[in-house]
Amino acid sequence: MAQKLSVQDLNLRGKRALIRVDFNVPLENGNILDDTRIRASLPTIQYVLDQGGIAILMSHLGRPKGPNPEFSLAICAKHLSRLMNQPVKMAPDCCGPEVEAMVNDLKPGEILLLENLRFHLGEEKPDKDPNFVSSLAKLGDVYINDAFGSAHRAHASTVQIAQFFPGRAAAGFLMEKEIKYLGSTILHPQRPFYAILGGAKVSTKFKVIEALMKKADVLLIGGAMAYTFFKAEGIPIGHSLHERDFEGVAKQIMDVSSQSRCRLILPLDVVAARQIHPQAKTVVADMQKEGIPEGFEGVDIGPKTIQLYKKELQRAATVFWNGPLGVFECPPFNQGTNEMAKILTQLPNAQTIIGGGDSVAAIEQSGLGNQISHLSTGGGASLEYLEFGTLPGIEALSSKRHLPHTKVLTQEF
Ligand code: AMP
Repeated sequence: MAQKLSVQDLNLRGKRALIRVDFNVPLENGNILDDTRIRASLPTIQYVLDQGGIAILMSHLGRPKGPNPEFSLAICAKHLSRLMNQPVKMAPDCCGPEVEAMVNDLKPGEILLLENLRFHLGEEKPDKDPNFVSSLAKLGDVYINDAFGSAHRAHASTVQIAQFFPGRAAAGFLMEKEIKYLGSTILHPQRPFYAILGGAKVSTKFKVIEALMKKADVLLIGGAMAYTFFKAEGIPIGHSLHERDFEGVAKQIMDVSSQSRCRLILPLDVVAARQIHPQAKTVVADMQKEGIPEGFEGVDIGPKTIQLYKKELQRAATVFWNGPLGVFECPPFNQGTNEMAKILTQLPNAQTIIGGGDSVAAIEQSGLGNQISHLSTGGGASLEYLEFGTLPGIEALSSKRHLPHTKVLTQEF
């Protein structure tokens, strides 16, 4: 992948910097439950302002079908204002004459947050409304993408927009940090390289499993995904979540693994419950012997598995983890996931990377996030980055070789 332009390569003085951020934060009763993503964008915003630029921020929030006040980004504008200790203006929409007038009134050092991009169909389906991306592009002199968590999606604000900024479409600091960690540490890892994969489904992760089998030395499996593998082996799984249509794929993965240098390790034992309820009756099922009894479902990795994975990981030089190892939303079935979070913080010599979503939430809950080398802000994005070695939102950015041209262009404004 050609090296991409950095925000530091742009001439920002007096320029309107249109910055794609990822403010898709979890909300409950109108409150932001976790502001990690907003905080992660601060260095780029601050840099733009310090360089004498104007920060025009755009993001999506949730999955609205058209305009819907429930999904307004106004709450993020307020929160950002507190974090930056300066006013953040909120636009009533993300494009159109009224927004253009607001943008034209902005002065260097000011911040404007555009309203939720997904209020327009053209964001997710650029082909259905080609005018949308050009009306967005009008709002900036330079474009910066700092939304790593959305870079795997070829949307108007992450991919199509870059063509309006030849030699002026750059990666923000967060994007650069993600590429640095995932690119250098995972694509060119120190060995042994251990990958831990959990989560619900084989169907959504088998491509990444195949990619990891080519890159990792050991793949530790957890979560509901394991039961499709056990079922394919003919081991009883009670009524555990599994995907019948993917038993063949699971079998194939195990066959490939038996001949590849990557060892695939499944749980030795699991905690199985009558139902997913904190007080449900549980048993520890030995998956090398009788498997899970009828009437029970696997909800977490068991104590022997935790010990085995812990022992294995002591040798690791690089560890990548994505996906919870059990139904972690329902304690006590969060034990395996929490133990794994702890194990990762105690590895003496390993680069540790956690790829987004639930596993990052687990480590943040334990308060141990600062003991991990890199917490990726993108779950899906980090997995696709591992699979393909790049992402559409990264590819769309200008290459460094445009640099001399860039300086000429940006000075013209
Ligand atoms: P994913 O989005 O594929 O990473 O899956 C995350 C979801 O997997 C979480 O909501 C977990 O509750 C769920 N999960 C993990 N392990 C299990 C399990 N053993 N049984 C049912 N769901 C599980």
